[in-house]
Amino acid sequence: MHYVKYVLGALCFALMVFLSWLALTPAPQGVLVLEYHHISDETDSEGQPYSVPPAEFAAQLDYLQQQGYTTISMQDFMRAKKGKQELPAKPVILTFDDGYEDNYTVLLPMLEERGMKGTVYMVTNSIGRKGYLSWNQLRDMQNRGIELGSHTANHQPLTTLDREKQAEEMKLSKLLMEWNGLKTIFTFSYPNGAYDEGMPQMLAENEYLTAVTGDGGLNTFKTNPYLLQRTNIPYPRFGLTEFKLRLFKSEAMTKLGIRQHIVNE
Ligand SMILES: [Zn+2]
Repeated sequence: MHYVKYVLGALCFALMVFLSWLALTPAPQGVLVLEYHHISDETDSEGQPYSVPPAEFAAQLDYLQQQGYTTISMQDFMRAKKGKQELPAKPVILTFDDGYEDNYTVLLPMLEERGMKGTVYMVTNSIGRKGYLSWNQLRDMQNRGIELGSHTANHQPLTTLDREKQAEEMKLSKLLMEWNGLKTIFTFSYPNGAYDEGMPQMLAENEYLTAVTGDGGLNTFKTNPYLLQRTNIPYPRFGLTEFKLRLFKSEAMTKLGIRQHIVNE
């Protein structure tokens, strides 16, 4: 029976080789996109998985800066893809879904303090409701350098709607923001990360240039711009260590060429 020992030994050895390879191969070149929601100390309705406290968020921003990351916008990414601008060595796009009011009161000053950029994806039928951004706040944010995108009109997972309704959600949310004096909206975020293979084409027809999913990983110019991958950053139970592990996981998945379609229920 002692061949079991050798098999286990060989497996342990293979695992160690694999882990060292993961840790030692250089980080893949690519654009990291982070996915946030609330930046707040308050717990949300689901007991805070979508709230990152400001102190934790500050530590994450400072860590990114120490590691040599530079924030860019979706527009920077697309301009660089067309050869119209250079990307920094380690680009990161900070994205915020749903359009909560704390993105104006808490997040914006924190980004401004550090000279960082961010992209906020708005559910247009929530604009002006309690706890959500108002039109004036959105206009002010855009003037102060925040990029705005659409997260649909009603935040229904698009895969639960028929094609006609899906197209409406994409189109109306964009037009409503532009009619209300905001600059052209050309980036989109799928509610709950739910998409299917027909949606990239529909977004292109509705004059979007990029869209973000909830699938973890890094992006290159070869990534379908309507299926950009994001690293989700929920409430960090284990502080900055958890943040570092989440970044590491995205890098590792990219190195291994694994893409998981993640849909939040
Ligand atoms: Zn959302």
